[in-house]
Amino acid sequence: MLKEDLIELQRKISILRVEGKYKETIENCYELIESGEQVKDYKSILVGYMNLVASYYSIGDIEAAFSSLEIYKEICDKHGDGQDILFSYNSLFLLYEYNKDLDKAKNTLEKSIALGKELKKYNIVSNGYSNYSHICMMEEDYTKALEMANIGLEMAKLHRPSTPILELRVKLNIAKALIELKDFESSKSLIVEMINDSILDLFIREKANCYELQGYWYSKQQLYSQAFQSFSQAKEFVEISNDIYLLKSIQEERCKLCELLGDINSAYKIQKEYISLLNDISKTELAQAALKLEIKYRIDSMKKRANTDYLTGIYNRDYMETTANKFLKCAYKNNESIICIVFDIDNFKAINDHYGHLFGDEVIKKVSVACSSILREIDLFARFGGDEFVIILKGIALENGEKKAEQILKTVRNLNINKEGKKIPITISIGVTDNLTCAALYFNELFNVADLRLYRAKNSGRNRVCAVN
Ligand code: GH3
Ligand code: MG
Repeated sequence: MLKEDLIELQRKISILRVEGKYKETIENCYELIESGEQVKDYKSILVGYMNLVASYYSIGDIEAAFSSLEIYKEICDKHGDGQDILFSYNSLFLLYEYNKDLDKAKNTLEKSIALGKELKKYNIVSNGYSNYSHICMMEEDYTKALEMANIGLEMAKLHRPSTPILELRVKLNIAKALIELKDFESSKSLIVEMINDSILDLFIREKANCYELQGYWYSKQQLYSQAFQSFSQAKEFVEISNDIYLLKSIQEERCKLCELLGDINSAYKIQKEYISLLNDISKTELAQAALKLEIKYRIDSMKKRANTDYLTGIYNRDYMETTANKFLKCAYKNNESIICIVFDIDNFKAINDHYGHLFGDEVIKKVSVACSSILREIDLFARFGGDEFVIILKGIALENGEKKAEQILKTVRNLNINKEGKKIPITISIGVTDNLTCAALYFNELFNVADLRLYRAKNSGRNRVCAVN
């Protein structure tokens, strides 16, 4: 894929994500990552994983979001810049917060704040403090929450260009902490100041938050009627912004207030609204669960397609190399034996020439089926290219690997492949080695030795196994 195509794909992904089309976003991310890997374009790979993290988070698949983030961080350490690292902190924070892992969430925020300061990204720093304040409130440490939110406000003021909504978001935390600390004077004037801020016309969710806070303030003062009014206003704005979870918490407050006010009629109406909201939530959650499953299924089949050889359906070279390298790494640690068997059909060009390419294809398929049938589930069998195949066996000594190779040789030799009533003899030549005798740590090293032995088998008359140099 060309550089321009990669950039185009990145653009397409960000549009899809903004539109909330997570399934399509995720599929395109995998395509971007794969294409980026082919041309070693790390920016594309990072953008791919970054969007995967955000999309998986949005559909509530936290496990997949975490694992995408892990890969993102690994690539980021080697190839990312400060901005990329900041993204990983922000995402990590969201995921920890989601899992209610508050210590880790705070730890991540500290790192994000430090890096944000270093990069002079005061919006990030201010957000960091704001989130920190939020976590402190979850822990009911309101003094610290207030302290963090106040620093956040200072940081928001440093941001250029000046961004009023940044300040307002931190002020929400300041006001909440003040209420909890029973400083009703200061919190009231701050809430009034925020509600009168014209910036709220552009930020409906924050507008709802302001009224929600005002309702909370009245509730704490036991002014239930005013509180009910504020929550009702908050509800109107939340309905516009379509945040069903915030709506649920506001409706719960309204229900409680109606009971306190003894207003049976309103309570009945709100209960009905509440039940229908719960239905909506359960529908949304069901739809999300279905979407999660569908995405998992599609990605698995995409991965499978990427890992398998189109003609035979067994693994392809790429998958073989990556997986064999993993096996070897593990075997090295545990001093385990790994066998590599490489084989190639004898005089295959002649078969193609005599009987045609399609017949040649059938031969390749039949050889692969026959070999698969005598291999274990845990053995790795791949078509390396053309008429050459590779088998990796775990936990088997070299002499048993040779025996397996002899068995494969015989199985192919005994294949019944006919053309126009005539049996076409098919034979293969095999090279065998293991990781212990050739001290191989990587697949390439192991393969080279086995391939050399395959070459010797060909040179000494074909249709045989060679397990020595
Ligand atoms: P040797 O015994 O030395 O291996 O001789 P060979 O004729 O088999 O030579 P080689 O292995 O180098 O040739 C492999 C041939 O396989 C070359 C190519 O035309 C053919 N080939 C590669 N891929 C395919 C395929 O997907 N289908 C078919 N039918 N033929 C293929
Ligand atoms: Mg051949």
